Amino acid sequence: MRLRGMCVVVVTALAAGCASAGTEGGADAELTIPSTAGRASQSTAQVTAPVTSTPITSTPSTNPLVTSTPLTSTPLTSTPPATGAAAVTGAVGPDVGDPYHPTLGNTGVDALHYDLDLVYDPVTSVMEGVAGIDLRAEIDLAAFDLDLVGLPVEMVTVDGEAASFTMTPDEIRVDLPEPVVAGTPLRVEVAYGGPMDGATAPSAGFDVGWFRRPWGSYVVGEPDGARLWFPADDHPTDKATYVVSVTVPAGLEVAATGLLGGIEDLADGRRRWTYQAADPTASYLVSVVVGDLDLTEPVSVGDVVIRHALAPGAGGGAAIGRTAEMMDFLAGWFGPYPFEAYGVVVVPEELGFGLENQTLTLLGSDLVSDTPATELLLVHELAHQWAGNDVSVQRWSDIWLNEGFATYAEWLWSEHIGAATTDRLAEDKRTEAVAAGFPAPLDPGPTDLFAPSVYGRGALVLDALRRQVGDEVFADFVRTWFGRFGGGSASTADFLDLARELGGPSAAQVARRWLTAEQVPDRS
Ligand SMILES: [Zn+2]
Repeated sequence: MRLRGMCVVVVTALAAGCASAGTEGGADAELTIPSTAGRASQSTAQVTAPVTSTPITSTPSTNPLVTSTPLTSTPLTSTPPATGAAAVTGAVGPDVGDPYHPTLGNTGVDALHYDLDLVYDPVTSVMEGVAGIDLRAEIDLAAFDLDLVGLPVEMVTVDGEAASFTMTPDEIRVDLPEPVVAGTPLRVEVAYGGPMDGATAPSAGFDVGWFRRPWGSYVVGEPDGARLWFPADDHPTDKATYVVSVTVPAGLEVAATGLLGGIEDLADGRRRWTYQAADPTASYLVSVVVGDLDLTEPVSVGDVVIRHALAPGAGGGAAIGRTAEMMDFLAGWFGPYPFEAYGVVVVPEELGFGLENQTLTLLGSDLVSDTPATELLLVHELAHQWAGNDVSVQRWSDIWLNEGFATYAEWLWSEHIGAATTDRLAEDKRTEAVAAGFPAPLDPGPTDLFAPSVYGRGALVLDALRRQVGDEVFADFVRTWFGRFGGGSASTADFLDLARELGGPSAAQVARRWLTAEQVPDRS
């Protein structure tokens, strides 16, 4: 993500975060979570087994998403689970336990693939959805939860059999018809939906979720907004492939993560758009935009398809036209572009930010123009396809890994095109950091996830490492980082370990100092 003018024009809560002192140097999480796996089946079977639900009293939650957004429905529980002659005694899968968002994700299951079949009426704002999820039990399992906030669930099936479920304000717990052993594949289908007005909530200084607008709709998933529009194992340590189908009235276009697989004209005049994302994707990076959009003709550059979705009259054409050149330049630093596709969707609204959804960056119309600033923004979001999307954070406290690399990529591009050098920009950023009192970028706290220090001092960590180890070792470090951890998640501890491996103990010490020292270190 990148905000226009960083803290200058953003919402009040984030602006307040700019002046606050971050938490210094917390230790990095040590948990190792299995990440991605291959694609499973793509069954499109619909839920057919009815579940009789009765209301229960909702349980209180301390999650800011929940306390700030009233539920649109009464939490439900279904009929009691059937008790069979199960030979396995399974456990309830635990949450990932990310300190910033303790209820996100579930380590009892590994989500392999999602089929999201959404029918959206932009006039009434009502969405009806079926989420088919291929999971694998990671432990001997009796129950697990998915993250889902604010949307009523009609029914749940597991392998075609009705399953009991219980809703809390931020999760849906599914009890398996019978416990299963670790490694068992499961197909879970969740029929859900409701009004999408109010399907947003404050998170890291701004709102996330599904945004209904006069011109259409878009989503903001980072860091915990996916659960506001589909049931998900909503933590970046669990990536999956996706097929996203969205049915909307004819006359509107749909842009989404992945490649357009087809457009189906329905008898009632609506159109069903289907996108397929074959690369493992974190749930927060899945995107759907509905509106009046001009879809550009896909162009293949090597094995990558470049296509954009642009609001009519959107600017920035010259900069957007350099996407392939930017991709080639960044590949020279980071290694091959990691996904099947890339492009931007420019919406007809002044969002004030760009968001690096996987294969399809979301941009507000206010941020694209024929200026050098647009180029830097585009490079920033493109760099996130490697830094954040292919190598995702292990915990949200590692967010500097995303924003530090993306900001440093801006500096590299600037030098590449003959503008300010990387060294000049680093020196300027350090001066700014000192003047503004940027706190340590590691572990900024959940409400300061996108504070300026995360970007500025995050990039200065890379600058410091480069100055310590030299250009050649630094280039090797960067390529090794993305080569080794691509497709999964990595932590700050992984970063420091690699710095030590390739640059020796002093390299790791320098990086750690820039990450954790309260005072901005010298560029020695
Ligand atoms: Zn960013």
